[in-house]
Amino acid sequence: MSRFGGARFLVSAAAPAQFPADIGAEVAFAGRSNAGKSSAINAIVQRQGLARTSKTPGRTRLLNFFELAPARRLVDLPGYGYANVPEAERRAWLPLLEALRARASLTGVFLIVDARRGLAEGDQALLDWAAQVPQVHVLLSKADKLNRGEAAAALRATSATLAGRGSTQLFSALKGTGLREAQDTLERYLG
Ligand code: GDP
Repeated sequence: MSRFGGARFLVSAAAPAQFPADIGAEVAFAGRSNAGKSSAINAIVQRQGLARTSKTPGRTRLLNFFELAPARRLVDLPGYGYANVPEAERRAWLPLLEALRARASLTGVFLIVDARRGLAEGDQALLDWAAQVPQVHVLLSKADKLNRGEAAAALRATSATLAGRGSTQLFSALKGTGLREAQDTLERYLG
């Protein structure tokens, strides 16, 4: 039985006016495109197909809200780092991000980072954006692709870069590595 058994899609917001009411608590999931964000969401919420990777330009600026429990939400942010997204579209979601971080209900951010790649430029920008968000957790995804030594090194490097700003862990949607820890953290952020 899933701990987030009641998870359901709420809305794809193209403008702040479409956001759900700012009540309760919500956690944003962010990451470079292809980092494994959709796979992580589906694994954590234990609902295959709940989050879908949208690689279609034009849909890359939508914020997808899911309700995990009454007044407890997950917000799936557009993946960043697409080479072929027009500048105008890239800029279009900045006001959405500004509006999101102004919400009292945004208690935390999950940042999904490919463990082989580590924190990169777009991730740093995301962390800057999240500077006022109370809690940040970095999932080092696709950990199954690293051997033990590489995984430990990735964890150390990310912890050092975060320098106390957030927590981090190894994660594999494929193997279930770190799933429990990620679910516990999400539950804690949602209060
Ligand atoms: P998104 O663009 O960040 O939402 O990424 P996706 O969840 O769509 O994943 C991108 C690619 O990485 C897909 O080919 C997935 O099958 C693969 N992937 C995601 N999670 C894992 C994982 O834990 N292990 C491995 N080996 N591959 C993964």
